[in-house]
Amino acid sequence: MRIILFGAPGAGKGTQAKRLEEALGIPQLSTGDMLRAHVRNGTDLGREVDAIMKAGHLVSDDIVIRMISDRITAPDCAKGFLLDGFPRTVPQGEALDRMLAARGLAIDAVVGLDVPDEVVRDRIVQRRSCPKCGAVYHLSKLPPKVPDTCDRCGTKGLEQRTDDTLEKVNARLEKFHKDTAPLVQLYGPRGLVKSVDGMSPPDEVFESTLRVIGIGLSGVGKAPAKVAAGRKPASRASAARKPAARKPAARTPAARKPAARKAAPKKKAAAKAKPRPAKAKKKSARRR
Ligand SMILES: [Zn+2]
Repeated sequence: MRIILFGAPGAGKGTQAKRLEEALGIPQLSTGDMLRAHVRNGTDLGREVDAIMKAGHLVSDDIVIRMISDRITAPDCAKGFLLDGFPRTVPQGEALDRMLAARGLAIDAVVGLDVPDEVVRDRIVQRRSCPKCGAVYHLSKLPPKVPDTCDRCGTKGLEQRTDDTLEKVNARLEKFHKDTAPLVQLYGPRGLVKSVDGMSPPDEVFESTLRVIGIGLSGVGKAPAKVAAGRKPASRASAARKPAARKPAARTPAARKPAARKAAPKKKAAAKAKPRPAKAKKKSARRR
């Protein structure tokens, strides 16, 4: 599964990315982190990038595509990947598509965590933290027991991070919408853009995400940790829930091995059973 994940600042993208990584057995590829790692490790590409940045230029799309192209040949990308922070423009998306197509691959889903701008603003602007112990508060939803005093360590004078002003939050939101628009433009017409309500508790957001990408919880096992530990418990759990889908031969221990192949038809069935891309598309498209 090749997924592009996006979400406003504070929408819980990091949490969901981690869970998807574990549940689907695919790595999160953050292009910014990847570039920095190349520079840090002094690879050929890293030296090239370092020189470009030191000269004050932007790293070209071509280089980023090359880096992704190289990265997805690694064994951990065999089942797919979760792309984060790229593409940010239509030409970047088109270049990505061409590179994938040359390998017989394609993006399967573009998932957006939907949190209204007002909520993002409220979450961030009302956030206060303790300068001593780092405890985080929200002035109206999670206020300290004694005003302006840390519950945990008693420090007086809770602080607002310099990035957490209304002006800066608005700038971050504006950038987010600007980055998101090309994704909707490019992948929307193909029915790939899926919107997930990011206001729900993390567990529900995760379930919704699996649902929109056409994988039921049964497809990955109930808890992501189980899948990470090995495919067997997941395949047994899903077989128990849907006995009809299991072939009699699957009962012999030897036949349990190809778990991935057995799960595949079920994924497709789930995708067919819940086609709701039209609504999701509309919702995202309205954003800006
Ligand atoms: Zn404190």
